Amino acid sequence: MFFFTSKCPLCKQKGQKVNSETMLHHVKDISKISDATYFYCSTPSCDIVYFNNTEIFNTSMINKEVGLKDSSSQQALVCYCYNYAKSSLDTIGLSEKIEIRMNNYGSRCDTRHPAGECCLPQIKQIVQEKLISKEKKKKSIREDMLRLKEKQALEN
Ligand SMILES: [Zn+2]
Repeated sequence: MFFFTSKCPLCKQKGQKVNSETMLHHVKDISKISDATYFYCSTPSCDIVYFNNTEIFNTSMINKEVGLKDSSSQQALVCYCYNYAKSSLDTIGLSEKIEIRMNNYGSRCDTRHPAGECCLPQIKQIVQEKLISKEKKKKSIREDMLRLKEKQALEN
């Protein structure tokens, strides 16, 4: 019995289907691409970019850095239509800036982005997570200060 799998062989997370046009734009050696269906692995810590049940394309087999992978540099792009790098994720209003450009000039995520789809949902998620961790850090500093004050009050 043949089962077609869409789970990444390395991280075991479900991948999203990509079309061959997307693959052709991002794989270094296009002769390795067969007619088969491929999936994109979006797990940041995973080295695999495209896979199906018999083949894999990892980050070293892709012709550009994948900014949404942990292993990529700060210069690696996260928005491939408007060239925003990983380092710009801290920019205030980044997703709004991208949205304005998309509304005015359109986008070609299907061929430019390795995932073959718009970068915005994932960028929004990363920015949100960063914000939450920043808040948590602030809160824990406040709590540390409070504990310190209480301790000093007790000692005096
Ligand atoms: Zn994976």
